[in-house]
Amino acid sequence: MDGVTPLFLTRSDLPELLIQLQHAGYRLHGPQIRDGAVVYDQLTSVDQLPQGWQDQQSPGSYRLHQTDSQLYFNWANGPQALKPLLYPARETLWQAKRQADGSLQFIVPDEQLEKVAVIAAKACDIAALKLQDLHFTQGEYVDPGYKARRDGLFIVAVNCSYAAETCFCVSAGDGPLHQDGYDLCLTELEQGFLIESGSVIGEEILQLLPLSMATETQLNSARDQAENVAAMQQRQLAPIAPDQLQSKRDHKQWDDIAERCLACGNCTMVCPTCFCHRQHEEPELNGAESSHVREWDSCFGESHGQLAGFQVRQTVRQRYQQWMVHKLDAWQEQYGRSGCTGCGRCMSWCPAEIDFVAEANLIGSDKA
Ligand code: SF4
Ligand code: SF4
Repeated sequence: MDGVTPLFLTRSDLPELLIQLQHAGYRLHGPQIRDGAVVYDQLTSVDQLPQGWQDQQSPGSYRLHQTDSQLYFNWANGPQALKPLLYPARETLWQAKRQADGSLQFIVPDEQLEKVAVIAAKACDIAALKLQDLHFTQGEYVDPGYKARRDGLFIVAVNCSYAAETCFCVSAGDGPLHQDGYDLCLTELEQGFLIESGSVIGEEILQLLPLSMATETQLNSARDQAENVAAMQQRQLAPIAPDQLQSKRDHKQWDDIAERCLACGNCTMVCPTCFCHRQHEEPELNGAESSHVREWDSCFGESHGQLAGFQVRQTVRQRYQQWMVHKLDAWQEQYGRSGCTGCGRCMSWCPAEIDFVAEANLIGSDKA
């Protein structure tokens, strides 16, 4: 929040932000409560936001409870980040149709630019989005579907006012405050929101809102809130140097983890930076048409390690090792930073209560 003095939007004027985004042609996508969790889905009104709800998380546990707070965004996260919005769990990449003369016609779905405004993106999830951008749009091959969805995305970020027991964005270097990567950024206080723009289109929306200058008291409250959120984070991931985990592939703790891990893949599904997928054909019964489908995959699955008829990761030990060593260690060479942004989801949604941070710290720090 350095630089330009933020402006202030009252709580009762929050609907105006949603209205202006809709007028600008954006479909709204935001947090709401469903099946006992905060999830992101189509949003039409502030009434759908999880006002007063808060999550309690620990390895193997996610629970929501209602508080008497007026805050809309006083929760840490749910099982989704922004990943399903830009990189769907299942997507048809192309279709093949046999023509009357016997030839095949290949049809690539037309990627329409749909403008979507996502409300309440957290700092760890924007950090993850930047990594997915790097993977899908900045390599040698650009993913056209991801790029089309990304180009139409407007991001309303929210600075966290609460950290769950599983959060560790501070030690991951990605939170709790947003630095960049948003169009608008909100900091929610009791009476309303500090609001800043981070892009030209964000500034255009900002100009349409009924705002006042933020007061010194409000700025101090925001500073205190950020310090509190950082102080709430008891869990810390120790720095991991390149090759630090690679060189510990014989460590005995991998055996201990493998005895508990169910190889269910939950951790990879909820992780906002995981991008592994598989592709397959789905032929129609008429024998003349087929769809080529991409679905999320997990390094914990048997088929993931099947290469040229040989299973390269036969044991759960090897698969867990692949997940952690790639995420925290090999990513540094591949993408210039760790693949973990400290969201904590892989712990909360692990049915075996495996503590990713504790295991990484133990293996990484052991001199053995
Ligand atoms: S590894 Fe775990 S804590 Fe890190 S970004 Fe993925 S889900 Fe979040
Ligand atoms: S670490 Fe947990 S969530 Fe991940 S595959 Fe193993 S049991 Fe499933």
